[in-house]
Amino acid sequence: MEVCEMHNMLLFCCVLSCFMALTLETEGSPSTEQLVELKLATEYLKRYYNLREEPLGRVKRSEPSFTSKVKDMQNFFRLNATGMLNSETLEVMRSPRCGVPDVEEYSHIQGTRWNKNVITYSIGRYTRDLPRNTVDSLIESAFSVWARASSLTFVRSQTHNADIMVEFVTYNHGDMYPFDGPRGTLAHAFGPGLGVGGDTHFDDDERWSAGERGFNLFVVAAHEFGHALGLKHSRHPESLMYPTYKSSRPANLLSIEDIVNINRLYSPVRGHPNYWSHWLSGSLFPQLMQNKCSPDLTFDAVTTVGRATFFFRERHLWIKHNEQHDIKEGPITNFMPKIKTSIDAAFWVPRRSTGYLIHGSMFWTVKGSYVKGKPRRLKRFGFPAWVQDVHAAVHIVKSGRTLFFMHNIYWSYNEKQRIMDSGYPKSISEDFPGINGTINAAVHKEGFIYFFVGPQVYKYNYTQKHVVGVEKANSWIGC
Ligand code: ZN
Ligand code: CA
Ligand code: ZN
Repeated sequence: MEVCEMHNMLLFCCVLSCFMALTLETEGSPSTEQLVELKLATEYLKRYYNLREEPLGRVKRSEPSFTSKVKDMQNFFRLNATGMLNSETLEVMRSPRCGVPDVEEYSHIQGTRWNKNVITYSIGRYTRDLPRNTVDSLIESAFSVWARASSLTFVRSQTHNADIMVEFVTYNHGDMYPFDGPRGTLAHAFGPGLGVGGDTHFDDDERWSAGERGFNLFVVAAHEFGHALGLKHSRHPESLMYPTYKSSRPANLLSIEDIVNINRLYSPVRGHPNYWSHWLSGSLFPQLMQNKCSPDLTFDAVTTVGRATFFFRERHLWIKHNEQHDIKEGPITNFMPKIKTSIDAAFWVPRRSTGYLIHGSMFWTVKGSYVKGKPRRLKRFGFPAWVQDVHAAVHIVKSGRTLFFMHNIYWSYNEKQRIMDSGYPKSISEDFPGINGTINAAVHKEGFIYFFVGPQVYKYNYTQKHVVGVEKANSWIGC
C-alpha cells in the first residue's frame, strides 16, 4: 500500500464548501442526511482515491479536486462519471471492501514483486470467530489459489519474520492505516518488500466465516494475497482483484485476467514445475531408466510423430511405433543430437508432416526425426509477451487447431491461417470439464485427446466434453 497522509479529522467548513460547490444548482441548505453522505464520500475518497485534505484557508481549492476524485472513483467502478454523489455512487461507497487504494502512483506498482518463487508466511494474531485450524486451512487454501495458477510456492513458517505476516487486528494496529470497526474496510495488505511488505491484516471487527455468513475469510484472504504478491485492483467485477466484497465467486476464484497478471509478474520460466529436475536432469538419468515403471511416472510432453508416439521426460525419450511392440528409449540427444534440453510440450501437424518441440520460449521443428535449422521463438505463434513457456500442446486435425495449455488457461491456434484465434486465453476447467490441475502433456489419437495430468492420463471426448477413461501414464510405455 502506498504510504500517504491520512488525517482522520474532518474539517466541517471544507465539507460545507465542497457540498456547496457540488450542489450549486439545487435550492436550499444541506440536510443532515446529505452531510452524512458527504462525510462518507470524503472519508472514502481519502482512503481509496488519495483525496488530500486542504489545510484551512485553502478551502476554495478543494472543490475541483473533490469532484475530480468522485469522477475517478466513478470511472473505476464504471459508473456515469458525473462527479456528483448520486445514489449509485453512494451505494458503491457503502459496500464493504478492501482497504488498499484503487489509485496508486504508477511508479510504486511497477516492478513490485518478490524476487523469488518460494514465499514464506506466518499467522500471528488469530480471530476468535473461527477455530485456529479452520483459519489455518482457509489461509492455506487462499495461498494455493495463486500457487495453482503460477510458479509460486508458499511455505508456512512459525517465525515472526516470514515474508507475509497474517494478522487479525482492530482500529489502530501499528501501521498508518487504522481499521474502522464493523463493515467498511475488511482487510488490507502491503505489496512485496522488506519489513511490513507482504503483510496482510484482517479487521477483526468483522465476522469472519468459512461459509456464507459474515465475510468469507477464504475469498478475502485470496484477494489480499494478490496484493501481497504485487497485484493492484482490477476494474473488472469478475476479477478476484475487484475492490468490493462479493460472497459468491466461482470455485477457482481467479479470472483469466488474474492468471495473466500473476504470470506477467512472475515469469513462469524459472518456476516451471520441472525446473529443478531440468536443472538436475544430467544426474537423474540412470535412476530414471530404472524407475520408468514407477506409479508416479509423469511425462513432460507426448506427441505423435507420423506413425510413432514420442514421450519426453527430462532429457529422456521413449519412442513407440504403432505397429511394433518394443519401445526404443534413450537420451533425447541419441535421436536428435541438436536437442540438448528437456521438452515442455510437443505436437504434430500431419498435413505438413511436421512436429514441433517446445522448450521454454523456443521451439524446434522436426521432419521425420530430423530437426530442422535453429530453434525459433514461441512468440511466433502470436502469444502475448509474458508467455515464456507452455506446459502442453496438442494438434486436432478435424478443427485444424493447435491448443496450447499453460496452468489453467489455454490458447487455440489456427494452423491453416497461422494465427492465434481471438478471445484466448480461455479457462481449461470451463472448456474441458473434468480436467483439473496442470496439464503436463497432451496428445490426440483416434479421435480423443489424452491429457497427462501428473501420473494420470484422462481420455477425453472433446465433442461431448467429458472424460471417458482414466489410466496410468506409465501404461503407455509398457508398464
Ligand atoms: Zn484489494
Ligand atoms: Ca471494517
Ligand atoms: Zn494494517
